Amino acid sequence: MRNTRATLEERGIRLTKQRKILLEIIDQSGAHLDAEKLYQLATERDPKLNRVTVYRTLKLLKESGLVDELDLMHFEGDQHYYETRMKQEHAHVICLQCGRIEEYFGEPLRAMRQQIQESLGFEIVAARTEVGGYCPHCQAMRREGASPPVAATANSPVAAPSHAD
Ligand SMILES: [Zn+2]
Ligand SMILES: [Zn+2]
Repeated sequence: MRNTRATLEERGIRLTKQRKILLEIIDQSGAHLDAEKLYQLATERDPKLNRVTVYRTLKLLKESGLVDELDLMHFEGDQHYYETRMKQEHAHVICLQCGRIEEYFGEPLRAMRQQIQESLGFEIVAARTEVGGYCPHCQAMRREGASPPVAATANSPVAAPSHAD
C-alpha cells in the first residue's frame, strides 16, 4: 500500500475500512480476481461486508483509477476482473481453451503507446492490451485431438479422446 493512501488523499477519497480491505486484497493477490471472489475474500476479513458494498466499492476504486477492470477476452462470459494499477503496464494473454492467464511485460507495449501518441496525436492515459490464443499445453492437446485427417476412410479408427489431466 505504498502510494495508495497518498493517491486516495490527492483525489479526495476517504480510505474507509471496506476500501482498504479491497485494495489490500487486490494489491496482494497479484492475480486477476473477479468481483464474486473478491467479495468472498473480503468477507473473510470482515463478515459484515455485503455484496452491494463490495461491488460499489470496486466501482469507486475503478473510477478513481486505483484498480483496473478487465474482461480478459470474455473467456468466462461477462465477468470482470480486477487488478492493481500499481503494477507496471502489461498485456494479458489468455488461453481460450483452459483460461490460463499470462502477463506480458515488455518494451513493445511502451513503443506501441508511443507510436499511437505520435501518429494520432492522443495523450494516452490508459491502455489495455488483451491477446487470445492457445497455451503450449492446449496446443499439444489440440494436435493430439486433431487426427484423423480429412481424408480418413470409413475404416480408420476414430481418434481417441485426448487424455484429460
Ligand atoms: Zn491452455
Ligand atoms: Zn494483469
